[in-house]
Amino acid sequence: MAIITNAPRGTQDILPEQSGKWQYIEKTALDTAGKFGFHEIRVPTFEHTELFCRSVGDGTDVVQKEMYTFCDKGNRSITLRPEGTAGVMRAMLQNSLLAGPLPVKASYVVNCFRYEKPQTGRLREFHQFGVEMAGAAAPVADAQVIALAKAIFDRLGIRDLALELNSIGCPECRSKYHQALKAYFAGHQEALCETCQSRLETNPMRILDCKSPVCQKIAAEAPKITDYLCEACAAHFREVQEHLEMMGIAFTVNPSIVRGLDYYTRTVFEFVSSGIGAQGTVCGGGRYDGLIETLGGQPTPSIGFAMGLERLLLVMEQQDCNFPSGETCAVYFGSMGSEASKKAAWLCKGLREAGFYAECDLMGRSVKAQMKYADKLGAKYSCIIGEKEMQEGKAIIKRMEDGETAELPLECGPLVEFLSAAFSPNP
Ligand code: ATP
Ligand code: MG
Repeated sequence: MAIITNAPRGTQDILPEQSGKWQYIEKTALDTAGKFGFHEIRVPTFEHTELFCRSVGDGTDVVQKEMYTFCDKGNRSITLRPEGTAGVMRAMLQNSLLAGPLPVKASYVVNCFRYEKPQTGRLREFHQFGVEMAGAAAPVADAQVIALAKAIFDRLGIRDLALELNSIGCPECRSKYHQALKAYFAGHQEALCETCQSRLETNPMRILDCKSPVCQKIAAEAPKITDYLCEACAAHFREVQEHLEMMGIAFTVNPSIVRGLDYYTRTVFEFVSSGIGAQGTVCGGGRYDGLIETLGGQPTPSIGFAMGLERLLLVMEQQDCNFPSGETCAVYFGSMGSEASKKAAWLCKGLREAGFYAECDLMGRSVKAQMKYADKLGAKYSCIIGEKEMQEGKAIIKRMEDGETAELPLECGPLVEFLSAAFSPNP
């Protein structure tokens, strides 16, 4: 019979043989964040559509073209989250976390949904690890958040990610810059792509982010935001850089980094890989001092980042980074006959309670086929229980790699003792 349907385009199954890599990446990221005082928050997969319109911004590609929005049975407009920040900030507000000691820090692992053209490193359901820090305005906070992202990459053994840094100023310096940009791009209006022509009026900074080669060429000569920063924003940006220098974190200032979402102010940054093709931005983040106010809270300067876990995994595989190997099967019990099969299952239970990974035959295979399977599993020891072994109450345990044998009673205690000496159980 044919399979009834395939998974929707742009989604991806993470199979049992791959999930260990995901768990490792997520655990490393969460652990590292813990050393910076960030603890995990879990928020809903869907939110009221309005949350994203207000925070991500009505004029962004994400809100205009990419959201999975639908009416639920109660006729509410609901959206599957396209990113993590909005929901996390909503949760901080709703649960009055911002009324407690500041800054409020949170980390998260979320699946996100965007209706985009699927390609390498770009899916319709993808995953992010991210952090948010609310309530800290000082440049040291920006630098700490960047240092956290860097620490995660370092712990995963990732090399050669370029940190690109920019400041897009506050609304005041930006309005002057917008005028200068508009004037510049107006001179090239005919040549710009259709989308950018419409951006010219609404948000000329987005043109700097356009992927079309013609627009990029024009944008390369555009006025730079860093020449338009007010004194306070310029000082903030300088100090962020000094903190990074002090920590030995290399970066380049790239004035064309503007980020895709409306809520950013001042510091913005990306970590970019040159090894995984066109979708090379593994991590993006920045300061969003106006966001919480937009959501109805008190003005609360905040900063965070999100890294795409699919892209992170691509980089790690491309760089041949180490992943922990899966758990080794300590012992495989082969058996002949139903009494022996029960004994094998009972021994497995005892060994598992002692922390070992143990297996027995579940297929009713011949002993020869059972041993072949034990070999495939990579079991460290095997033990065959037949009529004779049942009668004598003992059996031969064999080390698979070299055939060395030992005779042991068919009881959990001695087996646990023997295996504990051979290798320590997984915690
Ligand atoms: P891009 O410019 O690649 O579209 P973005 O600016 O839209 O990225 P953000 O909204 O900042 O991305 O999301 C943070 C990170 O999430 C990105 O740097 C990327 O690693 C990852 N990401 C974003 N969109 C996707 C997607 N459709 N598929 C896989 N990963 C994604
Ligand atoms: Mg995008």
